[in-house]
Amino acid sequence: MKKRTSLFDQLHKEKTNSYLKKPDIPLEDASQLLDKSFLREELNIPSPGELDVVRHYTNLSKLNFCVDTHFYPLGSCTMKYNPKVTEHILECEEITHLHPYQNQADVQGALEILYEVEKFLCAITGMTRFSLAPCAGAHGELTGMLLVSAYHRARKDKRRRRVIVPDSSHGTNPASARMCGYEVVVAESNAQGLLDYDKLRELVDDEIAALMLTNPNTLGLFEEEILKVSELVHERGGLLYYDGANFNALLGITTPAQMGFDVVHLNLHKTFGTPHGGGGPGAGVVGVKESLHPFVPVPMVDKKNGYYYLNYDLPHSIGKVRSFYGNFLVLVKAYAYILRLGTEGIKRVAQHAVLNANYLRDKLKDTYDLVSSKPSMHEVVFSCARQKEKGVSALDISKRLIDYGIHPPTMYFPLIVKEALMIEPTETESKETLDHFISVMKKIAQEIEEDPELLKNAPHRGSVGRVDEVAAARNPVLKWTQEEVT
Ligand SMILES: *Cc1c(COP(=O)(O)O)cnc(C)c1O
Repeated sequence: MKKRTSLFDQLHKEKTNSYLKKPDIPLEDASQLLDKSFLREELNIPSPGELDVVRHYTNLSKLNFCVDTHFYPLGSCTMKYNPKVTEHILECEEITHLHPYQNQADVQGALEILYEVEKFLCAITGMTRFSLAPCAGAHGELTGMLLVSAYHRARKDKRRRRVIVPDSSHGTNPASARMCGYEVVVAESNAQGLLDYDKLRELVDDEIAALMLTNPNTLGLFEEEILKVSELVHERGGLLYYDGANFNALLGITTPAQMGFDVVHLNLHKTFGTPHGGGGPGAGVVGVKESLHPFVPVPMVDKKNGYYYLNYDLPHSIGKVRSFYGNFLVLVKAYAYILRLGTEGIKRVAQHAVLNANYLRDKLKDTYDLVSSKPSMHEVVFSCARQKEKGVSALDISKRLIDYGIHPPTMYFPLIVKEALMIEPTETESKETLDHFISVMKKIAQEIEEDPELLKNAPHRGSVGRVDEVAAARNPVLKWTQEEVT
């Protein structure tokens, strides 16, 4: 592929460094203070004009898809609109000037926010404590499984070596269980895409530490037998872990506690409108029922006589899982999001998310194959097996969507669906956007009949053409280096 010449390629030879301020410390003193190996005679920093810099970064920003520019129906990721007012709130000095080492008496307001976020999340999930420290869903899972492990250890229950995950589970579930030393057992789904209860029953014994479950599951279906499953696992002394990545479908309608879950993680960057931000920072907060309180990570924010403080005095805690107190700014955004919506608004989020997914499902069900006759919740999974017979894959369809200015849905996941496209419109999309997407998906189906080659080479209008994804993963070029200039 042709290498893009960057601003830095063009201008790296100019070395005037006019952007750099003169140092406050005389250079001779600085060189006394620093180890010689850190000192350079010459600093190779380009000095382009402001306009060139503005154009460079503006053009770079336009190469990317984002929720603010394009429809982004990436299933399971819940790419909802991130309200700008929550970004605006973070600009106030009381927040931007905080430092994590400040005296607790001086940051009572910040601690109060954390305290209240925890209370809100407890009310929304039915859990009774939340650690705000984990900074991603996967990090929450790891924390949650460490809690499970600490719980069984405290009970001197040493038999429990296994964790069950369904075959539709997100890859982070088995990985997190494995990282905590557990053996992973896979539970099969039935033909409708739900957990097969009879097969599960054969797997649940006294050696099961936990069952990790996403509900609605990754096919966007509600696990109808969740109460029976909960009873089965608990009867044998195991715990039920809730992967809350799909909680957007159930906000304000039911709670993981009512479904029988003991440990929960929520992805604030999915469900609570905070940005995914190119891989971070996120927040994968972890909630627990009372039986797991003693083990929660330190510090927790507690309150005594009206004074908020960071409580490190938890002798059975699994310890720290993150520096300081989690991604504070993300937590403030989630706080603002919850406050703005209120009890009724929170519920409407779920209702509209489910309505939007079912609208797409109904309008596209004759064009692409549905994988289950069970009603969809917040996302709908289609199989492109029919299109594959014409030689066009789910990947080709996804790439063609880029030509129409739509971000590809999640593809080839869940693994149990052939040629899967997992579409999650979220509640923040308008009917016009959904109608546009439906018409594009139908047009693509027509193109498959008439000109399949068009799809195999797509995208034609993206900022790059079809990339070699294996080479990109094996040989990533992540930063500019001068040597690459040709
Ligand atoms: C996104 C997701 C995760 C992992 O969350 P991250 O915040 O990306 O680490 C886990 N399970 C499911 C079902 C998910 O969709």
